[in-house]
Amino acid sequence: MKKGLNWKRVLTRIGIAIGILIGLTIVFVTAFVVVLGPKVSVTTQADTVLAPEMVPPGIETTVAFVNVNVIPMDSDRLLEGQIVIIKNGSIAEMGSGSSVDIPVDALKVDGQGKFLMPGLSDMHVHLFNSENDLLLYLANGVTTIRDVGGPPIRLQWRDEISAGTRPGPNLLVRSPLIQQLNWFNGITYTWASSGGIRTANTPEEAEKLVAEFKAQGYDGIKAPHGIFNSMDVYRIILASARKHGLPIDGHAPIPLSYGKDKTRCWNEFRNLGVEAVAHTEELIKIVDWSDKSIRKTARDVADDGLWVTTTIALIQSILTQRYNLEDELAKMPEVKYVNPAILKRGVAWLDIKDGWVPGLNKYEADPDSSKEEVLEGISSYIQALGKMFVALHEEGALLMSGTDTNVPLMVPGFSLHNELEAMVDLGISPYDALRTSTYNPALYLNSLNEFGTIEAGKRADLVLLQANPLEDITNTRLIEGVMVRGRWYTRADLDTMLDKIAEANQEVSEE
Ligand SMILES: [Zn+2]
Repeated sequence: MKKGLNWKRVLTRIGIAIGILIGLTIVFVTAFVVVLGPKVSVTTQADTVLAPEMVPPGIETTVAFVNVNVIPMDSDRLLEGQIVIIKNGSIAEMGSGSSVDIPVDALKVDGQGKFLMPGLSDMHVHLFNSENDLLLYLANGVTTIRDVGGPPIRLQWRDEISAGTRPGPNLLVRSPLIQQLNWFNGITYTWASSGGIRTANTPEEAEKLVAEFKAQGYDGIKAPHGIFNSMDVYRIILASARKHGLPIDGHAPIPLSYGKDKTRCWNEFRNLGVEAVAHTEELIKIVDWSDKSIRKTARDVADDGLWVTTTIALIQSILTQRYNLEDELAKMPEVKYVNPAILKRGVAWLDIKDGWVPGLNKYEADPDSSKEEVLEGISSYIQALGKMFVALHEEGALLMSGTDTNVPLMVPGFSLHNELEAMVDLGISPYDALRTSTYNPALYLNSLNEFGTIEAGKRADLVLLQANPLEDITNTRLIEGVMVRGRWYTRADLDTMLDKIAEANQEVSEE
C-alpha cells in the first residue's frame, strides 16, 4: 500500500490543537478576569453592603430645633437662642424665641447649649463601588460629596439619593477619567475600572466621549489627567466640555507639570482657561517653590477665579505612610469602617499596589531608596504645599474642601475633619476653614440658593454639634445629629450605622 499523508487525520489534529488553544485562552482570560479583576479594579466590588433594613431610616417629619445657637456661615457670626423649623426637606423658618411659632406636629430637638451649622462638603471623593461609604459621610456630617469620576452606576445612586430611595449625602458625579492610552492599556483599563476610565487618543475621540458623558447625565467632566501627553486632546476636552456647559475639573497636564521653564509652563496653563483643579498639589507641580513664585501664583489663581480643591491632609500623611504605616494604621480606629476590599486592593506579586495595608500601599518606602534624600524631598514638597495653601487663602483664591477619600488613609467622612484641622493648623481661622466646606462648594456649583448656609428656603442639610466649631475646629467631630434633605438622623442612628458597617467589615475580614 502506498504510504502517504492522511490529510483527514492531519486536519483533525490541527482542528483539535486549535480547539485546545482557544479553550485555554478562554480559560486563561476568564481566570484573569475573575481572579485578578476585582483585585486590580479601581471600582472594586464592595466586600460589604449593608442590607437596607440594617440602615436606620432616620426621621422625616416637621422638625423644630429649639433654643439653638446657629452658625449660618453667610458671615462670621453666631445667632443665639434660635428656633429653626424644617418642613418638607427645607428650612421653613428661622428666628429668635418668640418670633417663631412651633407647629404642633413638629418633632422638637432641644438645642440648648448646642450649635447648628450647614452640612459639610467633601468635593473630592472616590466611592469606588463601596455603597456603605455613603453612610460614613452621613455619620460625619458630610451632606454633599462629589465623586470625581465614576462609571454610570454612580448616576443611578445619585438619582436614588435625590429621590429619597437610597440613604446618602447629595451626590455629584464627574465623568469617568479620560485617559490617553494605547489600545491594549485602553481595553484593560476600561475593563478593570468597569468603565471608570475611558480612552481618547485623538481630538475626535475626545469630543465624542464628552458628548456621550453629557448624554448620560454626568454633572461634569473628569479630565485632563496626568498621563496626558498630547495637549491637543487636552484642549479639545476643555473646549467640548465648555460647548456642552459641563464644568471640568482635574489635574494639570503632564507636559506642563515638572517642566524646566516654570514661567512658560505656568503661563501656558493659565491660558488653557481651566476652571478648577482637583488638588492644591497641581499648582506645586507647575511652579517653583520660592516664596516669591508661590505668592505670584496664588495671586494669579485668585485673579483668574481658578477653583482649588484642597486635599492637604493626604499630602501631609505621605511621609508617615512611607516610614510609619503600620503604627499610623493602628492609631486610626476609623479604619474599621473602610471597605476591606479597598484596604487590600492590589496584587502584591504583580507589584500592583492600590490598597492601604503594608505590602499593598504605594506610599510605602522602597527599601532601596536613600532615606535622607527622600525624606528631604517629601518634606519640602509638603512644606511648599502648606505655603501655597496659605498664600491662596491670603490672596482670596477660591478654595473648596476635598480629601481624595479611599486613597490610603483617607477614610470617607472622617477625613473631612482631618482636612479642616489641617487648614487651621496651617494658620487659617476655623470660620475660613468651614467656609471651604459649606458656602464655597455651593458657590462653585452655582447652588447658593439651595445650600451652603442656614437660611429660610434652603435645603435642610444640617449638623448639630455639642460645642462651637468657630472656637475649636475639632468640635466638628462632636456630632449630636445630622439632617440631610430634611431627614433627621440622631446620634443613636449614626452610631448604629457605624457599628453595623464595622461588624460587617469584621465578618468579611475573618473569612
Ligand atoms: Zn482623587
